[in-house]
Amino acid sequence: MLDEVLNIVSRMHPAFWIGYWFIVGAFVGSFLNVVVYRLPRNCLSINNPRRSFCPSCKTQLKWNDNIPIVGYVLLRGKCRYCKAPYGARYPLVELLTALLFAFACWRAFYADGLNLSGSPLAWLTLLHMTCVIGVLLPWALIDLDLTYIPDKLTFGPLLVFVPFAAHADAFAAYLPSSISPLWFAFEPRWLNSLLSNVCTGVAAALVLWLIGKGATLLFRKKAEAIGGQAMGGADVKLMILLGVMLGWPKLVAGFFIAILVGACFGIVQLLRGKGSGTPFGPYLATGAVVSMLATGWLVDFWNWYQRLLESLVS
Ligand SMILES: [Zn+2]
Repeated sequence: MLDEVLNIVSRMHPAFWIGYWFIVGAFVGSFLNVVVYRLPRNCLSINNPRRSFCPSCKTQLKWNDNIPIVGYVLLRGKCRYCKAPYGARYPLVELLTALLFAFACWRAFYADGLNLSGSPLAWLTLLHMTCVIGVLLPWALIDLDLTYIPDKLTFGPLLVFVPFAAHADAFAAYLPSSISPLWFAFEPRWLNSLLSNVCTGVAAALVLWLIGKGATLLFRKKAEAIGGQAMGGADVKLMILLGVMLGWPKLVAGFFIAILVGACFGIVQLLRGKGSGTPFGPYLATGAVVSMLATGWLVDFWNWYQRLLESLVS
């Protein structure tokens, strides 16, 4: 029965599945907007009121105003009732989530010229990727808004990612170009895989905590001026989650991407004469998502770089 279903699924045109996940992503993005708005405001619950309301006049929105991206375009970014403008961030978050989901689908099913859409492992990988995006995107946005992250948003998702972490080795093995996340060499594989990811998270948190301590000692005056440590406690906790989510190869790559992106934005902000008060968390989240989605290319780049070094040495 399952084989027949997977057989039909694998014969669908790639555009069908990529388009399907684009639409799913747009709706998830719409939900993430609600999470970002309501979660830090403790008086508001995620599912009550059920329908979205205008943040300005509190009128409940019609169902067709709620259609992701399309609703915003039809209303030209204004409330139907009080004409208060909605931020462009709402449709942008929906569009970004849609694009990331569509790309994750391509990555899991069709990268490297393959068609893996009939493989249950590919579906689990895609589910894992969309969960990572669905957790890290609101995490980054709330951190940008408030530079404060409720602990439930860091430690709650751990429960979701522990079962995935137990299969991280299998996920890595089915894609042609990736590196195994295993730290140890014992059986059973699932326990090995789980332990490797947990150790990665704890070790990464420790490293970031030490970097933060060092930076605070070095730049004590500057740190006091911006009010606290150079590296927030939320970033350290995020590292535990990222380790369990991704395993060490993607986490290390993501960390370096985060520093690169952070440095670029920091230089732009300095040139515009603004202080660099941006928290590091959003960069970490960005680096993690990029390294997860671009693993194959990063491995290719790493191999090319090693060959380059070897040719220079010899
Ligand atoms: Zn309104």
